[in-house]
Amino acid sequence: MSTAIDCAWLLAEPGTRPAQARMRIAIGADGRIASVAPSGANAGGPRRLVLPALANAHDHGRTFRNSTLGACGHPLESWLFFQGLAPGVDPYLCAATSFSRSLRQGVANLMVHYTRVQGVVPYVEEARAVARAAHDVGVRIGFAIAMRDRHGMGYGPDESVLPSLRPEIRDEVARRLSVKPVAPAQQVALVDEVAEAIEADGHADHATVQYGPTAVHWCSTPLLEAIARACADSGRPVHMHLLETPYQRAWADQNHPGGIVKFLDDIGLLTPRLTLAHCVHARPEELALIAERGATIAVNTSSNLGLRSGIAPLAEMLRQGCRVAMGLDGGALDEDDDALREMRLAWSLHRGWGFEQRMSVDQLWGFASRNGPRSVRGATRVDPLAGSIVPGAPADLLVLDWDDIDDEHLFDEVDPLQQFLARATGRHIAKVIVGGRSVVQGGRVLGVDEPALVAELLARTRTALAANPAHADWRAAVRAMAEDLGPLYLRSAFAGCA
Ligand SMILES: [Zn+2]
Repeated sequence: MSTAIDCAWLLAEPGTRPAQARMRIAIGADGRIASVAPSGANAGGPRRLVLPALANAHDHGRTFRNSTLGACGHPLESWLFFQGLAPGVDPYLCAATSFSRSLRQGVANLMVHYTRVQGVVPYVEEARAVARAAHDVGVRIGFAIAMRDRHGMGYGPDESVLPSLRPEIRDEVARRLSVKPVAPAQQVALVDEVAEAIEADGHADHATVQYGPTAVHWCSTPLLEAIARACADSGRPVHMHLLETPYQRAWADQNHPGGIVKFLDDIGLLTPRLTLAHCVHARPEELALIAERGATIAVNTSSNLGLRSGIAPLAEMLRQGCRVAMGLDGGALDEDDDALREMRLAWSLHRGWGFEQRMSVDQLWGFASRNGPRSVRGATRVDPLAGSIVPGAPADLLVLDWDDIDDEHLFDEVDPLQQFLARATGRHIAKVIVGGRSVVQGGRVLGVDEPALVAELLARTRTALAANPAHADWRAAVRAMAEDLGPLYLRSAFAGCA
């Protein structure tokens, strides 16, 4: 089966090629672009703008938004604990609703660093449910299994953080948050086991299994070394946070005086298979080494603002030759996963001031669309044509309502790219196509009944909350812990620092 899409405007390679008027894109039965050609006559009907779908190179498949959990306003170091406040429920419901939101907002390739395990079924079953959700929703995910073995409360041994908390919450915090380390070999073996199970289910094309060390401060050196060796053997991608906050910078400088990026390089982790989320506080020489080794950096502009982490040196990353990709990290500006608005925010913050141009539209497009699929799919599986609409490229397309975007048309010479960059948001998306298949139409995900899944998720979560008063006690403890951590970070460089 092949299909064709006619559009009033085509941005086949934004920033590289000018917009083309009245084009027809033919999609082959293999899910790839078969041809791109002028459509001839004005087709009539609603006007459409077609462009490559976006990618989200760093996220976690979160179930609920930050403000729902009462987590807003907290810096990362106390915000983290609010993520565990919702009771674990069916992982398929959580994943399918989360992936639906991302897909509706224009993301075809979505990174899922799976840091919040629901835990109501065995881990491998949970991972299979997440991959099945990706398949049903119609999005491609990278599924990075979260790996850690130290520092459950701050950036030092748990025993060094606990005395700073008020006595009445210490036992419960220790019980819930102390790290119970699992041996590196066992953590690595789980990744293989999950990958085999997802492959056997026939969902490997929708979910690329990856190693997900959470960060250097949360992983012992033996664990990181084991991951580096496993990555070299298996070729699987690695996804990890790095230098997200000022406190993580301070920890890195104290614990890796030779340089934390140099450390990653020394243990063999800094390779083209690695994606580093954030790098907000990375220095130019660190960025130069990341660029030289060919790792990708996922920049999360809204999340960094929401968690008070800072503004990433995106222009410097580009200057150093880094491959950069956009991440939403579950923290889009309006908590709506709108990838188009996220792209605009990053562009506004990072393109440069006055007449200085520090990021080109071509680089913006690399950031928002072309580079992310590599983090999601891995260097060996990614299609080199992803992020552009040319024959042979995967047919991952956004079809936007151009009548709505261009609603006060005056001058024919104004480039449609201008209006797109200035105005387009998720609400303008008429259709999302992934791998040649229509997966969103008129704001609705076609593969699953999203409103019914959301209703079911909320009902089950509320029932679980009502059934156990301990949930409310733990919420109060987390709020108290957040209050106690503030002074600790303010008086020392980071929690856990002597
Ligand atoms: Zn993250």
